[in-house]
Amino acid sequence: MRAQVLTAARRPLIAAELPAPRPEPRQVLIAVRACAVCRTDLHVVDGELADPKLPLVLGHEIIGTVVDRGDAAERFAVGDRVGVPWLGWTCGICDYCRRGQENLCDRARFTGYQINGGYAELTVADERYCFAIDRRYGDVEAAPLMCAGLIGYRTLGMAGDARRLGIYGFGAAAHIVAQVARHQGRRIFAFTRPGDAAAQDFARSLGAEWAGDSTAPPPEPLDAALIFAPVGSLVPAALAATRKGGTVVCGGIHMSDIPAFPYRILWEERVLRSVANLTRRDAEEFLGLAPEAGVRTETVTYQLDQANAALGDLRSGALQGAAVLVP
Ligand SMILES: [Zn+2]
Ligand SMILES: [Zn+2]
Repeated sequence: MRAQVLTAARRPLIAAELPAPRPEPRQVLIAVRACAVCRTDLHVVDGELADPKLPLVLGHEIIGTVVDRGDAAERFAVGDRVGVPWLGWTCGICDYCRRGQENLCDRARFTGYQINGGYAELTVADERYCFAIDRRYGDVEAAPLMCAGLIGYRTLGMAGDARRLGIYGFGAAAHIVAQVARHQGRRIFAFTRPGDAAAQDFARSLGAEWAGDSTAPPPEPLDAALIFAPVGSLVPAALAATRKGGTVVCGGIHMSDIPAFPYRILWEERVLRSVANLTRRDAEEFLGLAPEAGVRTETVTYQLDQANAALGDLRSGALQGAAVLVP
């Protein structure tokens, strides 16, 4: 099968012909139809995440068709369409797993990081971590739901019942979260790189009532802020924009260092927290809600052998919506 392979950090992906993977007992073999490109992939390529298996097939926003099953796999039939997210396997027995926090499992393994992912024609995945995809979505359109959507949804959940919601960094996750938040009746204030008028227009087109520079204060104090851009200086900016008792949630897996800031912008019971990974419950909830809420995704399609170009466009910040690879 054709695949794009990472052999070392800070090197371009290499086109390779790999043997087709064989499904283990609880795995399904999947013909990849689409795989979205996540900011996390860029962190892996850039060596900002410490623990990838190498060589590695990236990609954890996979939509594909089951073409074979392991001996003990029974959840999906050959021919079924499934989605595969970042959470690839958990132990089921550690304290976190037993407390319903499998996203924090001590032994968790992640798709496109410790398990080969979807930048390929074929992949295998544990059926217990695969999901049916609503038929209202096409393959390319559905792919960004699998991480930008799922982890964005978990991030939004950490904002509680906040009505005035700030969103910092208006990329793939934000463009989905904004639609869910509007569906829930929240008001959206979008913050972009200073002067990025195109991103601000994009945010308004998705329901933001205000869009401006991340260095500018919002017109009203925020009840909560979600940070999707991997930029540590946004943390004090978001705290300063958030009301007493409000919450700032960091939605990414990696961020540049957070600069020192005065305690007074955290004081008055503001909460600062992060989100890590996802649970299968998040996925079931979000994949059920998205079609009901009318969530659409904006995508830019690339052929599999254009994976390096897709990563480059993501790095440059030029994309509006999500990059999706098709084999
Ligand atoms: Zn565990
Ligand atoms: Zn991701």
